[in-house]
Amino acid sequence: MLVDSHCHTYSFRIEELENFKDILIVGVSEDYQSSIRNLELSTVFPNILPFLGAHPWSLPNIKDKEIEMIIELVEKFKGIGEVGLDKKYSRKSIDEQVKIFRLFCEVASEKNLPLNVHALDTWRECFNIVTSYSVKHVLFHWYTGPIDLLNEIASQGYYISINPAVVIQPKHMKVLEKAELDMVLTESDGPYLYRGMNLNPLKIRRLVEYIAKVKDASPEYVEEVVEENFKKFIC
Ligand SMILES: [Zn+2]
Repeated sequence: MLVDSHCHTYSFRIEELENFKDILIVGVSEDYQSSIRNLELSTVFPNILPFLGAHPWSLPNIKDKEIEMIIELVEKFKGIGEVGLDKKYSRKSIDEQVKIFRLFCEVASEKNLPLNVHALDTWRECFNIVTSYSVKHVLFHWYTGPIDLLNEIASQGYYISINPAVVIQPKHMKVLEKAELDMVLTESDGPYLYRGMNLNPLKIRRLVEYIAKVKDASPEYVEEVVEENFKKFIC
């Protein structure tokens, strides 16, 4: 089965989600509202696994009370995300981001839940934080971080995800070339528009074919390994 390990399902219309039924999708959330929406969607679409979260970009607008409300719902969800740090697009709120990210790491560790991490320009920082909380199941989504961190990520049993944008983003391409297949997941980050590329779960099929070409393997083999990786990530 094809896997989209990071998708903003709450931003798609129901008619669109109907087209994604054959794909296993992690529905990440950005705040309380989107967490609730993803939970509702998962009751209609069993292929959607709801994750709750507070996106680092949303944080200046999220009050502590809302964070509490999100965390109170944790038992109803399959995992936590999108959470993390971003020094590239929202450097100003970094202290607040660190505080909230640590909180989510603590919850993930305590409840043994998988964590879907956004770590733009903060790859090593996020890695150090998740390991300090002994979070067991971690995905660094759309990984464009340092190549020399890949081994450490793999040695913790953590994963990175490859986005369809790999075909037009050289630093992501380098990551795909260097990463062993057993640490790779596929994702769309849909419905994000990246340099004119309309990202959505339907792009995963072509992505798997592309990964297969780079890794000199068959698409069937890549699909199988990614699904196995996903099962371990989701625990
Ligand atoms: Zn995202």
